[in-house]
Amino acid sequence: APKYALSEESHARVEGIVNTINRRDVGQTEFLDAVHEVLDTIIPVFAKDPKYIEVFERLVEPERQIAFRVPWVDDQGKVQINRGFRVQMSSALGPYKGGLRFHPTVNISVVKFLAFEQIFKNSLTTLMMGAGKGGSDFDPKGKSDNEVMRFCQSFMTELYKYLGPDTDVPAGDINVGAREIGFLFGQYKRLTTCFNGVLTGKDLNWGGSLIRPEATGYGCVYFAQNYCDYRNVSLVGKKCIVSGSGNVAQYTVEKLLDLGAIPITLSDSDGFILEEKGFSREDIAFVMDLKNHKRGRLCEYLEYSKTAKFFKNEKPWGVPADMAFPSATQGEIDGEDAAKLIANGIQGVFEGANMPSTPEAIHAYKVAKLMYGPAKAANAGGVAVSGLEMAQNSQRQQWSREVVDEKLSGIMKEIFDMSLSSAKEYGLGDDVQSGANIAGFLKVADAMIQQGAV
Ligand code: GLU
Repeated sequence: APKYALSEESHARVEGIVNTINRRDVGQTEFLDAVHEVLDTIIPVFAKDPKYIEVFERLVEPERQIAFRVPWVDDQGKVQINRGFRVQMSSALGPYKGGLRFHPTVNISVVKFLAFEQIFKNSLTTLMMGAGKGGSDFDPKGKSDNEVMRFCQSFMTELYKYLGPDTDVPAGDINVGAREIGFLFGQYKRLTTCFNGVLTGKDLNWGGSLIRPEATGYGCVYFAQNYCDYRNVSLVGKKCIVSGSGNVAQYTVEKLLDLGAIPITLSDSDGFILEEKGFSREDIAFVMDLKNHKRGRLCEYLEYSKTAKFFKNEKPWGVPADMAFPSATQGEIDGEDAAKLIANGIQGVFEGANMPSTPEAIHAYKVAKLMYGPAKAANAGGVAVSGLEMAQNSQRQQWSREVVDEKLSGIMKEIFDMSLSSAKEYGLGDDVQSGANIAGFLKVADAMIQQGAV
């Protein structure tokens, strides 16, 4: 019999929640997957204290969902239309906080799953942040700087009404980086005449935080380091598969190098590159320039490196390695990919991307007893330093690199420790995935109970 069995009444209530979301959110696969992943792991909490079931029922319904038309004029003078979103998921712990994603795959299901993940992630950071997420199906690929600017201005012209440094503070996510945050901030300022910390990920000269660009990648490696220390494994000399080639992947590689690990792959939507000898610091500097400034494709790396190989339209999970850092996007490791990783002797999977592993993949990791750092815990460093950026903005101060990095590494350690101790408290061994969900949930849930039925 399962250790934490629900009473018949509780079981019926949980089933009721599942039926409701299946009806309300029909077809929202990403969102439903994200809810089920949490639900599967917090049953022990419901079994111990059924009052939390009602709280979960509230949490799966966003406080507010905004969808809007984003008209903009392209370089040919033609009007283009995209759809914009902001899901304000939970304000139990602070102002809504979470990034904006610009990608053709963005729809309400994707934005809602990301906002839902943000609830637990932000709770785990130990900082005062609620949860939200937004974005658009706008595809910046192949667009000129001016087109991106006009799009961002139009997007903010609608969104600014719902934002404020104590209301809702967006940041970047896929395809929303320094350039986009600048354009969005400029338009917010023009519309409101307010210069404040309404966005994080700002440039250093106008309110940004040191280490914010590095934070997600560095944080993910710090998390891995904590898990490795706990299992008495060293990262030194470990071959690491990294997917993606954006902000998270770049700084994951950089921190892996700092710790003596050997990052050997990067990817984009065209395929992956394998650098068998491991990327050097110069190699990664080249990738950063290629992706962040030239806005090129990863296969152009072949013109730079004689030793690299490019695998068109393939994912890197079949490459033999010790650790995996999926840092591209949701669903990038399915059950088959996970089986390949495990067959090749992978020891740990640490998620830099949000929900990169399908439910089948997660199941395989758990059966194989891998070190599994789920996104909500492992990639929380990004939003954590966003929280530190908000703190610096409120103080009208800027902290040094050392101060922010130390706080980041302290927060990642705390997240690991909390996740592990929650797992142990519920008799789940070192199941850090369940522990992270439980710890993240309980903090939000108690706040909601204290604040009444809102
Ligand atoms: N988009 C990032 C995430 O998934 C950062 C969000 C933020 O800094 O607000 O956590």
